[in-house]
Order: sequence, then C-alpha cells, then structure tokens
Amino acid sequence: MKSIEREIGLIGRESLSGSQVRIGVLGLQGDYQKHLEMLQLIDGVNAKIVRTAQEIRNWCDGLIIPGGESTTVGKLMRRYEVDTAIIERVAEGMTVFGTCTGMILLAKEIEGSDQHRLNLMDTAVRRNAYGRQVDSFETDLNIPCLGSSDLMRAVFIRAPQITSISSEVEALACLESGEAVMVRQGNCLAISFHPELTTDTRVHEYFVEMTRANVLI
Ligand code: GLN
Repeated sequence: MKSIEREIGLIGRESLSGSQVRIGVLGLQGDYQKHLEMLQLIDGVNAKIVRTAQEIRNWCDGLIIPGGESTTVGKLMRRYEVDTAIIERVAEGMTVFGTCTGMILLAKEIEGSDQHRLNLMDTAVRRNAYGRQVDSFETDLNIPCLGSSDLMRAVFIRAPQITSISSEVEALACLESGEAVMVRQGNCLAISFHPELTTDTRVHEYFVEMTRANVLI
C-alpha cells in the first residue's frame, strides 16, 4: 500500500519505514546488469535499471554507477542531464555507490583529464593506474565495515587508483601497500574493484543498509 501511495505522491520518501528501499542502477553503459542481479539477491530491495533524470529524481533512494568507460558515461550523463539530477538528489540525501568508472565520476580530481565528472567526493584518482586490460588482477581484502573478518575477493579491471583523499573521506579498505580502494564520504561510497563479478553480496548489502539508514532519517 505504502508503495502505491508513494507512486501517486501521497507520501514522501521519509515515510518509507518498513517497506523496500529503491536502488537504481545507472544503465547508460557498462556492467549494470550484473549489479542488478546482485541486488536481486538481497532482501528488502526494489532494484531496477535507471536511465533518465526523471527516474533518478522520482524513484531512487540510492543509485549505483557501475564500471564501464568513464569518458563515455560522463558524456552520456551530461547529454541526458542525469548529472544534474544525481547532484541534486545527493544533496537531498540519495546515496550513491560508484564502482570503478563510477568512482572516477564521483571524484573531484581526475589526474591529467578534464573529462566530465560529478565532483561529489573529495578524492583524486588516476585512471588505468594498474596498466592495461591484461594487467587486471584479483586479491583478497579485509573490509572491517562489512562486519566480519572473512576476506573479500576483489577483482580489479583497468582500475583507477585513489591518489589522495581529504580528511572528510574515510578509507574503508586498503591494499597491502596502504592504498585505499574503498572510500566513503557521507552518502557517497566508491570502490575501485568489482564485487558484482563475484558471488559475495556484502558490499552491496553495506550500500543497501547505508541507503536504508538515510531514508529513515
Ligand atoms: N578504465 C576505465 C575508465 O577509465 C574504468 C574501468 C572499469 O570501470 N572497470 O573509465
């Protein structure tokens, strides 16, 4: 019933208590389908692919920006005015989770590039920092915020490197070298690897909980 009321605008987002959180996966380019499949494994989530500014404004409690090619996604975001919708909704409390390309687009600084970006996190990144496609790698990460000491398999594909973060940004997981690969600033979460390519749903669950907590504020 609540969702029908919400669809017809009788109640606002803050009245979501007890119902499902709505997570959109930005489907402009990249591996969005895999994120959708992962979200479908988690209880209490209503997930769908979103492509328009209107869907982001009217439907999403949280948004995933998947891996792909950041120059292309940045251009498409601008063309369809999805960028402004995301920026406005994040200011209102929508959560956003960028993986790889998504992390690049959330950053304030992209080394050596003036490509379009959202500039929502106080981070600087270097694209393709670990080399070409053939240099992609996997490693096991300890991610304490996931609530267990079980290591998480992390797949890096032409991944960006976080070269600096401000004191506003929290590093949630690091490589052995000390480089941050999962960071959070308020309602923005960014990671340089691809949990959607594994069967481990914990990072997605973390984002769902982060979104649920924001919706209930
Ligand atoms: N190398 C890509 C870019 O710069 C990101 C790769 C990915 O999303 N897996 O946009």
